[in-house]
Amino acid sequence: MERKHWYEVGLDHVWLPYTQMKTAGPPLAVARTHGCRIVLADGRELIDGIASWWTSCHGYNHPHIRQAVERQLAEMPHVMLGGLVHEQPLTLARRLAALLPGDLDRVFFSESGSVAVEIAMKMAQQYWINRGERRKTKFIAFKGGYHGDTIGAMSVSDSDAGMHDTFRQLLPEHVIAELPRDTASADALKLVLARHAESIAALVVEPLVQGAGGMRFHDAATLTRLRAIADRCGALLIFDEIFTGFGRTGSMFACEGAGVVPDILTLSKALTGGTLPLAATVARRPVFDTFWSDDPAKALMHGPTYMGNALACAAANASLDLFEREPRLAQAKAISEQMTRELAACRALTGVKDVRVQGAIGVVEMHRIGDLRALRARFVEEGVFIRPFGAIIYLTPALTIEPQDLSRLTGAIVKVVGDLK
Ligand SMILES: *Cc1c(COP(=O)(O)O)cnc(C)c1O
Repeated sequence: MERKHWYEVGLDHVWLPYTQMKTAGPPLAVARTHGCRIVLADGRELIDGIASWWTSCHGYNHPHIRQAVERQLAEMPHVMLGGLVHEQPLTLARRLAALLPGDLDRVFFSESGSVAVEIAMKMAQQYWINRGERRKTKFIAFKGGYHGDTIGAMSVSDSDAGMHDTFRQLLPEHVIAELPRDTASADALKLVLARHAESIAALVVEPLVQGAGGMRFHDAATLTRLRAIADRCGALLIFDEIFTGFGRTGSMFACEGAGVVPDILTLSKALTGGTLPLAATVARRPVFDTFWSDDPAKALMHGPTYMGNALACAAANASLDLFEREPRLAQAKAISEQMTRELAACRALTGVKDVRVQGAIGVVEMHRIGDLRALRARFVEEGVFIRPFGAIIYLTPALTIEPQDLSRLTGAIVKVVGDLK
C-alpha cells in the first residue's frame, strides 16, 4: 500500500484562508524558504513577489533574526505580561516610541493586526468615556479600506473591498465615507461629520496606501485634510500602518512620509520581519493621559494571553537592528525605481487599466481578471509566486530582493499579462 504523505493526510483536516476548499485545487506545498525564495516540496524554487502577506521585509530566514530568536528561546520563550515584565517587549516599546514621529510613545502589544485594530477602537472609545463623553461610539472609515477580519475590524472595513459582506448582520454600524482626495470630497466628509459630530469617536484610515482593499494610493494632502477635519470635529485620528509600516511606502512609516501624526497607530505585518506573529497599538501621550488616573475603571481593559511574547519581541528588536544597520529605505527606493521602469511595459497591454508604484509596492490593475486561479498557476509556471486578487496583480517583495530577481518578477507579469486573452 502506498504510504500517504503529510501533505495529503493533513489537507483533509486543515481549513485554509479565504478558500473554497472544494474547488480551490491543491495548494503549493512548501518545504523551506531562503532569501527571496520559496522552495516547494517537489523541489521547484519560486521567486517570492509577495513576502508572505508583506511580512518578510528582510527576506526569509535572516540569520540575525534567527540568532536573536534562538537566544531568546534558550533563555525564556514566554511569560505573561500581567504582573510581570521582561526585557524584549520593554526594549521594543522604547525603540518604537523613538522611531515613531511626535509623541506616539505608548505601545500596547497584541498578536495580530486585526486585534491591534480592535484595541485601537477600544482605546478611542474609552478615551472619550474617560473624558466623560459617552456618546462618541461611532467610527468613520473609508471606501477601499481594509482593517482585518475580526468583528470590530470588519465593521470599519469597506465590505465591497473586503470579503465581509456575508457578515453584515453581525457588524456594528459605522460610517464608510469617501477619502477626502480633493476639496470637493473633503467638503462632503465635513458634511458627514457635521451630521454625526456628537457620535464620532475616531476616523480610521490606512495612510497613503489601502492594501487588501485594492492597493489604492492617495497623497499626503489627503491625510493632512483628515487630520484637520478630525481636529475640527473633535474626533481622534487612527492610522492603520499594519501594511504601510517598516519601509513599504518608501519611508519608515507612511505617517512620517506624509508628515501627519495620528493619535493612535497600529503596526504588525513586517514588525517581526515575517518570523513570528506580533502587533502593536501605539497611542500619543494625550490619549494615554486620559487612562492615567486613580480610578481603576479608567484603565484600558484589554490583555491578550500572549501579549509581549518574548520570542516575537526579540524577533522585532532584531528586525529593527537590521533597519538600523542596513540600507532598507534606499533599497525600497531602488525597488520603486526598478518597478516603475519595468512595469511600464504593461501600460500598452490589452486589459490593463492602470500601472502604479509607491515605494516597494508595484501594481498592475486589470479591467477584470476572468480566472484568478489560472492566472496564479501561470505565475507558478514562470517560476514566481505572485498572488493576484480582485482585478489586481501586485508585487510587494522583500526589501532585500536582488535586482535580477525583481526583474524575473516584473518580467513574469509583463509576459503573463501579455499572454492573457
Ligand atoms: C493585514 C492587515 C490587517 C489585519 O492583520 P492580521 O494580522 O491579518 O489580523 C489590518 N490592517 C491592515 C492595513 C492590514 O494590511
